[in-house]
Amino acid sequence: MKITSLETELYIAPPPERPITDALRANRHPGHVRLKVHTDKGIVGSTSVGFASIRGANQTLQTMVDEEIAPLLVGRDPLAIQLIHEDLKRGLEEQAIHGMTMYALTLVNVALWDIFGQETGQPVHRLVGQAKDRVPAYTMVGWMHLELDELKAVCVRAAEQGFKAVKVKVGSPTLEEDIQRLEAVRAEIGTEVTIMVDANQTLTVFEALRRGQVFQEMAVFWLEEPLPAHNYDDYAELAAGLAMPIATGENLYGKEEFKELLVRRGIDIVQVDLARLGGFSECVATGLLAAAFGVPCCTHGGGMVNLNILCALPNAMYLETGPLSDAEREYFVDGCFLAPEGAGFSW
Ligand SMILES: [Mg+2]
Repeated sequence: MKITSLETELYIAPPPERPITDALRANRHPGHVRLKVHTDKGIVGSTSVGFASIRGANQTLQTMVDEEIAPLLVGRDPLAIQLIHEDLKRGLEEQAIHGMTMYALTLVNVALWDIFGQETGQPVHRLVGQAKDRVPAYTMVGWMHLELDELKAVCVRAAEQGFKAVKVKVGSPTLEEDIQRLEAVRAEIGTEVTIMVDANQTLTVFEALRRGQVFQEMAVFWLEEPLPAHNYDDYAELAAGLAMPIATGENLYGKEEFKELLVRRGIDIVQVDLARLGGFSECVATGLLAAAFGVPCCTHGGGMVNLNILCALPNAMYLETGPLSDAEREYFVDGCFLAPEGAGFSW
């Protein structure tokens, strides 16, 4: 089989009237780039990644794929997935292998795994050795822009959909505001449902210790991204000072960066980000690296590719997702997504 062409499509949403916010940023410019990789057998692998808060970033990503990557891929065997990945890293190094280049590598890597899945008639998680037949999922309920009554309504919906775990943004100007939001969520969902919190890199070590001690007394399960993502020593100090697990990783750009946290014991739960890590392959590799340290793995975000990643990992813990779509309901049982059985990245 040979790659015959790459086709990209740019989607930029109109600026939302009320952007989604956390303690760090507002998603003012949501968009994505969709990639289709065509082959001489008629199989088409596809996927999309995008930026939500940088105007123009999606267009730059599209240009990188069209002008730099497509000429390197036409004529190659799409199933030599890791070989292509390494060649692209070398070929693109002058434009830096971090940042946006990783998003471009992700588009290619996922589209190629999609081709492999379709060619073999197997879900991609099975091509690397299925490790799970279901994966627990939590839903993100507590966005910062939601008023308390809106927050309660989202919680009611999450409970109705059968979620057994929800996540709430923290890092409000005061701890008291964080507590008020957490108490509102707890009052709606009861004590049977797990709550996680996410500070999106906005706290200092001192403040994360102060707030973390309160959150753990409120039976919050994990504290996510309390500190700037690359402050590895600070993470180690914080993790040593709190009983509750520290979850982080969605802003790291490779398993080598996770290694820095794992060897320092600055991370209790690994969260892989598909776009920043460079694709399905690197997420699975990072998850297995975490397994060697006895650390569970979750995904930043959901969807079929992330679900396939977790189904390939013996240490999979949680898939992150939004509210269930109608299509997803059928596959969501007892707070878990069933392992997909469709070819490539389909149900
Ligand atoms: Mg997060």
